[in-house]
Amino acid sequence: MIIFGFSSSPREGDALSSPCSHCQQSAQVALRSFNYFHLFFLPVIPLGSKQGVSCTHCQKTLWGRDARAIIEAGAADDSDLPGRPFWHFVGPVAAAALIALVLLSGPSDRSIRAAEAAAAPSVGDVWIVNMEGAIPDIEIELTYGVGRVDEITEDGVYLGFSDWQYDSFLQALTASRKAAAGRDDEYFTTAGVWFSRDEIITFENAHDFIWAFSAEELKEGAKAG
Ligand SMILES: [Zn+2]
Repeated sequence: MIIFGFSSSPREGDALSSPCSHCQQSAQVALRSFNYFHLFFLPVIPLGSKQGVSCTHCQKTLWGRDARAIIEAGAADDSDLPGRPFWHFVGPVAAAALIALVLLSGPSDRSIRAAEAAAAPSVGDVWIVNMEGAIPDIEIELTYGVGRVDEITEDGVYLGFSDWQYDSFLQALTASRKAAAGRDDEYFTTAGVWFSRDEIITFENAHDFIWAFSAEELKEGAKAG
């Protein structure tokens, strides 16, 4: 059973100068209640917050518009209001860490496949290329290019490059996968560069060539999907 729902946690802020409307004591503090969506009571999505005012003397507590008016009248600025408790971010941070782990744990498996693809290239293999590293003479605007193995001879491998370039490896990977899966013929061009087989291995070792996927893998993915 999955337990989930909405919850909130109130936090106390600074003391307000205005007296309590109920007991007239200057004992009011600003409150802020932070909503979140929880999964098994672990906050996973931080949602909005609401403002409140509580009297530490008589315990009278107001929320919403009435509270806001008091806070504003009490000349409390935003700094008087407490911030979201850090543990509300435990879920989002854990989720981000999990995603990062999935993305980064790939490489052990990926790096083996990359080394294999460099040693034994096949037509249709797609490489994300750090252009500055692999082709320093070429003029490019962004760091990562995408090359597809179009031809293989005894001596070398011809990579047809996409016109598209990217800031990050991940962008390049996502876009090239999408283009290849969607059979976007205009994504890869026939304009490219010959690399020797040794160069491919060298660049792969230096991480200037990052194996993205093979034609084979994409076919399997399409079947599975
Ligand atoms: Zn009071």
